[in-house]
Amino acid sequence: MPRFGGIDLGGTKIQAVIVDEYNNALGSSRRPTPTEGGPPDVAREMATALRDAAKAAELEPAELAGVGVGSPGTVRDGSVLSARNLPGWEGSFPLGPTLERELGCPMALGNDVQVATMAEYRLGAGRLYDSLLGVFWGTGVGGGLILEGRPWRGRGAAGEIGHVVVEVDGARCTCGRRGCMEAYAGRAAMEIHARRLHEEKGRKTVLFKLMEEHGRKRLTSGVWARALEQRDKLATHMLDRAVHALGAGIASVVNVLDVEGVVIGGGLGVRLGHPYAKRIAEEMLPHLFTDSDPPHVHVAALGDLGGAIGATLLVREQAPDGAGSAAAAGVG
Ligand SMILES: [Zn+2]
Repeated sequence: MPRFGGIDLGGTKIQAVIVDEYNNALGSSRRPTPTEGGPPDVAREMATALRDAAKAAELEPAELAGVGVGSPGTVRDGSVLSARNLPGWEGSFPLGPTLERELGCPMALGNDVQVATMAEYRLGAGRLYDSLLGVFWGTGVGGGLILEGRPWRGRGAAGEIGHVVVEVDGARCTCGRRGCMEAYAGRAAMEIHARRLHEEKGRKTVLFKLMEEHGRKRLTSGVWARALEQRDKLATHMLDRAVHALGAGIASVVNVLDVEGVVIGGGLGVRLGHPYAKRIAEEMLPHLFTDSDPPHVHVAALGDLGGAIGATLLVREQAPDGAGSAAAAGVG
């Protein structure tokens, strides 16, 4: 029976999974994404994560039929370009060949957000729809599109929903522009803003104390969730602001594309779950031009493993339901 590997390379963590042909997870592992160094250091951690997952599944990486990788940045011919959320990755790095050498099995690469959107469309919360918008709310806010059953990549850069402008001349975004949705809702931008309010303006918050208590170097989704549970005023204010921006940004995209479904994934999206998906849907309403028939808004059903399971679709051209071929053609 063929087994497949998948690696989801995120700005915060590397998630690896081994699945059988029916998408049962046989083993998984996760490691923090290196915050220093460069692409070779990231590649080494990815190989280790995959080896750990293989060990949990009681097999060797070389026994796998293939390993798919969902990576941030632009993916072209096995290389990854300008993955700006990763350390020292402004240029191009041959990630595919490097991992192939390390692990001894065939590799296939795709953009992480497109991979995760395809996974939700094929296997998760988007199964019922022909057109779908995936919103991955984490370090940044990524977007993936399926239109009439096919991924839409534009000229290669489609889906950058995080940089939809929700306020002209608004807050500074991590991309350098102003007023982007991500400047209000992205975890990285929220952390910069929270730190400034706390350190420069003296606003009280448990966020940074929680971060240290849990041995984190960043305000992870878990840290935000715990602060919300403790009714931290600053965290609550910032999440309200994020949801407000997400509602406006997502509704604007829906006004243009009129998709049937919206799936909210990503570290924060999955962690905050259904109550926040519901809030986002409510915040969308005032901005929807056709508000009598809003699209369904779901939380990503494949959860935290979705990106990694989606990545396995990249190497499954012979999959029994044909899922792999479409995904590999569309996403690779
Ligand atoms: Zn931006």
